[in-house]
Amino acid sequence: MADLSWRELEVELDAWSEEGQAATLWWRDDDARGPSPELERLLRIQSRTRVPLSLAVIPERLDPALARLLQEGREVAVLQHGFAHRNHAGAGEKSMELGSHRPREHVLDEMRLGFERLQSTFGDRFLPVLVPPWNRIAAGVLPFLPRCGLRGLSTFAPRKRADPVPGLREVNTHVDVIDWRGGRRGRERRVLIPEVAGHLRARREGRVDAEEATGVLTHHLDHDEGAWTFVEELLERVSAHPSASWRCARALFPDRSAELRPE
Ligand SMILES: [Zn+2]
Repeated sequence: MADLSWRELEVELDAWSEEGQAATLWWRDDDARGPSPELERLLRIQSRTRVPLSLAVIPERLDPALARLLQEGREVAVLQHGFAHRNHAGAGEKSMELGSHRPREHVLDEMRLGFERLQSTFGDRFLPVLVPPWNRIAAGVLPFLPRCGLRGLSTFAPRKRADPVPGLREVNTHVDVIDWRGGRRGRERRVLIPEVAGHLRARREGRVDAEEATGVLTHHLDHDEGAWTFVEELLERVSAHPSASWRCARALFPDRSAELRPE
């Protein structure tokens, strides 16, 4: 890691080594609906780096060709990205699909439908983990997700509890490579690298849940060259460090398929 801007991450990963700990990270990419040149680029990076990828897929208007693109052998897990990625919040409110703007049963019916669609399209590659669009979900919906077959939740920011409700494991993302308000550009590495190192340090120092893997959030359809370069370099540099590892979603979210089935 000769590049000075990566030094802060190297120092932090070394600190995990010195404490005899293994730093865990994971990679979530959102908004896949079907094949695209950007998705193919993402999968090439996954193939080359061999870093497990958790792909949050939108069930509505899903292109079945996506299943063919995710060939056997690739370490790609499919997560459920809401249902239609449609905003139901009013003007002036923050965008939200899974809020309290509609009757809860409507929301849950969509979750069940999305679950079934992803399971029948992707089989074992699909993990019953919900990634709410815009990383927002009404607290009142959470207790009902396990009844829809969902056993995991992933939003953004350090989790407060490992299981926000019984039967639902939460593992979030913590670093977003895109600057959504500043023109949907890739954020600069001088802010991204300290954020990755900062979450790892907060875990090591016990300021956040140390057991929650540090999540890197990407959006393949919105990457500029800077974002692509950063992501690829981060994947490689973390992989190269002896005390850091990328975890697959299957390892982060416990298998509760035997105890929870959709009703
Ligand atoms: Zn999204």
